[in-house]
Amino acid sequence: MKEVIIGKEGTQKFSISASRVSRQHAKITVSDSGHWTLEDLNSTNGTYIIDDNDELVQIKKVEISEFTRIVLADQTSMGFTFYAHHILEDDPKNYKTEFLHVLQIHDKAIKEKTEIDAKIQKKNMMRYLPGVISAVIGLVLTLFLPFHQKVYGVAVTAVFTALLQAVINIYLGKDSKLKKFNAKYSNKLICPCCSKPLTEIEFKNQMCSRCKAHA
Ligand SMILES: [Zn+2]
Repeated sequence: MKEVIIGKEGTQKFSISASRVSRQHAKITVSDSGHWTLEDLNSTNGTYIIDDNDELVQIKKVEISEFTRIVLADQTSMGFTFYAHHILEDDPKNYKTEFLHVLQIHDKAIKEKTEIDAKIQKKNMMRYLPGVISAVIGLVLTLFLPFHQKVYGVAVTAVFTALLQAVINIYLGKDSKLKKFNAKYSNKLICPCCSKPLTEIEFKNQMCSRCKAHA
């Protein structure tokens, strides 16, 4: 079993100097069977975890995983945010495991984004539908309606086209997949050390340009 007290005067190997973090703020326990537990040690400003929906949840004692992001006090520079896994690192500057974890999320996001883009592209093909259908109807009506009724054919086609266009625009406007995608990933594709959102180039280089944490 491993037990690490986290705080300004904790037993963790990385240093914490953030002003709102207590001297002995929280405790992480890793059992021999690999179960992780996080416990708040009656800290002044509270211990939180960031859940799957990126919500900040205050805890007293909770089961976590090694990739749970823990927030001591708050997410500003006066608090301290880190991946639970970091307590296992002998070299406090080594973010290899965490970086690989973020990279995995990134690769999953890229795959999802490709699928969403393909779906949106397919959906956008529908924009041509009213034009094509109205051309066909117009042609049929022009060919088969008696001469003095052809004007009705034009009117029917115009009304039909406008209605179809409106319905399709409403349908296309409802596209929320991209919004959901952004909400799901925007707060996860970040540097495991300094929480800066990572760019594609940084993912390619596997290094944060701001704090130099790397895989
Ligand atoms: Zn960074």
